[in-house]
Amino acid sequence: MPDKLSATTLVGKFVNTAALEEGKDAIASPSDLHAWLVGHHLTQVHDHMSLEDVAGAVELREALRELIGLNTDGRFQGTAAEAVNRMAGASLLRVSVSVSGDIRLDSASGSPFERAAGAILAAVYSAVTDGSWSRMKLCKNPRCRWAFYDRSKNRSGGWCTMAVCGNRAKARTFRMRRRLRQQQI
Ligand SMILES: [Zn+2]
Repeated sequence: MPDKLSATTLVGKFVNTAALEEGKDAIASPSDLHAWLVGHHLTQVHDHMSLEDVAGAVELREALRELIGLNTDGRFQGTAAEAVNRMAGASLLRVSVSVSGDIRLDSASGSPFERAAGAILAAVYSAVTDGSWSRMKLCKNPRCRWAFYDRSKNRSGGWCTMAVCGNRAKARTFRMRRRLRQQQI
């Protein structure tokens, strides 16, 4: 890992560059994408990102969101597989050994963005192999779909934060119940 962030934290932060409910996107322009990748030690300050890289990053992010969704409700559309496989191919992921003997997955070549995407995919693979991937979930609020790490003992967490989406869902259930009761009277 290029940073001290755990693999799932890095992937979660990447997926959450889009705050869907607020309509915000932290990687919507080449300069924003560059700043985010530099901030997470995934590219160099002197590297440049293009509009095409932004499109690739957004496609990869939404494919990863879909893959995490598989952990959440078991549903999966094949489009994510295609996007991830294409990106992994472009970044030429390979097993490499550093001079100090560390064995890791990294990009054999590619543009700065493709190498950064390779590092994100390497983090996904590392989370799959250490077992932490299955705890990556998406918030059940369909307008939120925030990625989070489910720390609950029985892996039953469904909301990004109980304080926000969980309580909103509870409030909705409460209102629905009250309506049903009123109809029965
Ligand atoms: Zn949420």
